[in-house]
Amino acid sequence: MHCPFCEMQDTKVIDSRLIADGSSVRRRRECTNCKERFTTFETAELIMPRVIKSDGSREPFNEDKLRAGLLRALEKRPVSLEATEQAINNVKSSLRATGEREITSQVIGALVMDNLKALDKVAYIRFASVYRAFDDIREFGEEIARLND
Ligand SMILES: [Zn+2]
Repeated sequence: MHCPFCEMQDTKVIDSRLIADGSSVRRRRECTNCKERFTTFETAELIMPRVIKSDGSREPFNEDKLRAGLLRALEKRPVSLEATEQAINNVKSSLRATGEREITSQVIGALVMDNLKALDKVAYIRFASVYRAFDDIREFGEEIARLND
């Protein structure tokens, strides 16, 4: 890559190290022309499907939104951040595994619920009710009854 200071084409890597559990590489580079040093980060680009919303519009997959939804459901629940991040990763890899370029928000919601169900029953019910995943109140009641069994 070219130097951001003098635009020279030729830069050399003087240090390279893995960060974030090996999911990224941090490189120190030096321009062979002006000798300025700068840092680059390299991460695999994992293409997520686009989201088809209930009104038919499309938007890019938003991990922050997913995390916010999970954290809201898990508020004050005895679930570690690590377990929460793991659930987010599970949802993301399930989405990628579909191989679809576009995926409905309902499918994502269902994946989140599957993961929450395994993590924490209360969070699961909270999420399901907020996202109106149940068609009517009767179905919601049945689900709670099932969880109580
Ligand atoms: Zn330079």
